[in-house]
Amino acid sequence: MRKLALLAGDGIGPEIIKEALNVLDAISDKSPSFQYEVKEALIGGIAIDNTGTALPKETVELCKDSDAVLLGAVGGPKWDNTDPGGVRPEQGLLGIRKELGLFANLRPVKIFDALIDSSTLKPEYLKDVDIMVVRELTGGIYFGERKRVGDRAYDTCDYTFSEIERLLRIGFDLAGKRGGKVHSIDKANVLESSRLWREVAVKVHADYPEIELSHMLVDNCAMQLIRNPAQFDVIATSNMFGDILSDEASMLTGSLGMLASASLGSKGVSLYEPSHGSAPDIAGQNIANPIATIMSVSLMLRYSFDLMYEADIIDKAIEDVLDDRFRTADIMEDGATKVTTAEMGEKIVASIKKQ
Ligand code: NAD
Repeated sequence: MRKLALLAGDGIGPEIIKEALNVLDAISDKSPSFQYEVKEALIGGIAIDNTGTALPKETVELCKDSDAVLLGAVGGPKWDNTDPGGVRPEQGLLGIRKELGLFANLRPVKIFDALIDSSTLKPEYLKDVDIMVVRELTGGIYFGERKRVGDRAYDTCDYTFSEIERLLRIGFDLAGKRGGKVHSIDKANVLESSRLWREVAVKVHADYPEIELSHMLVDNCAMQLIRNPAQFDVIATSNMFGDILSDEASMLTGSLGMLASASLGSKGVSLYEPSHGSAPDIAGQNIANPIATIMSVSLMLRYSFDLMYEADIIDKAIEDVLDDRFRTADIMEDGATKVTTAEMGEKIVASIKKQ
């Protein structure tokens, strides 16, 4: 019996998580290999309202005692404040990443044929795009020493050999199960931390002779993602470069509502969540796209439980429903049938049952 921790969070979080749970039910009905129990806990704004903190102790304990965590989204205008000592929903997210030692963020960017026209790029550049961005999540400039001295300010980009190595190993392992290519992204012509990054990439590569390794400078990568995105398989990079490049890559698909993510950690519990936020502008209206969250469930089955067949069933169900031209408002196009959040979930569940 797999133990799942469920953190629905704020805004559209509860609506999209509900559809993801229906999908999990459909999969467990179909597959004896996937039986699960789920326990819910509070995170983000709703946790602040109920307990005064964005990440209650009970939530951390539940997550640590689980096999995997499924998260909706956190945040909203109700809890916005700029008070440096203030309590904010995002503290829940950063806190749980830290508690679970989640050092690698995986964002798959796959173009569904049915949605190829929703992108701002021309379809011929998007054919065959299937990228996995692997971003380091707990080191680098976001966590290095920072200070303001008089009219100056600085932030330090700091990495150790082992922090880089464990991230790159995830990249190489993934490439072995995908297209067999890793692009290691750095700024080694300028930054010392990037020169270490490149050295580590070369050393780790020695253990993966079957994988093709290319080094690419981050500015060139930003350009190549638009010029010829199909050249990439796995992109492995540091925290800040990954933050920027994964957002750029995600927009190749045309909608935030289609992007899943997985955060893998050193403690064996991984966290799965859509890449988008809590979308307060559409919360409670039953119009949010639940596909990113349902795709996150598929990533969970694949990476936490090694259930490739079951994950493929979910991916195929999503593809079939899109091919049948059912669309939530964010991906609506001429001639398609507009559906609500719940209807999109039902269509995907029906397609899972049919397979
Ligand atoms: P957002 O991702 O919530 O929304 C950006 C735009 O995309 C909005 O117009 C929204 O309606 C739309 N959108 C997002 N997800 C969608 C979906 N599934 N279906 C249809 N449309 C969707 O980003 P934002 O507006 O910058 O932030 C809103 C709140 O979310 C803020 O409080 C922010 O801090 C928080 N946030 C949380 C996370 C997280 O929980 N991981 C990530 C980013 C932002």
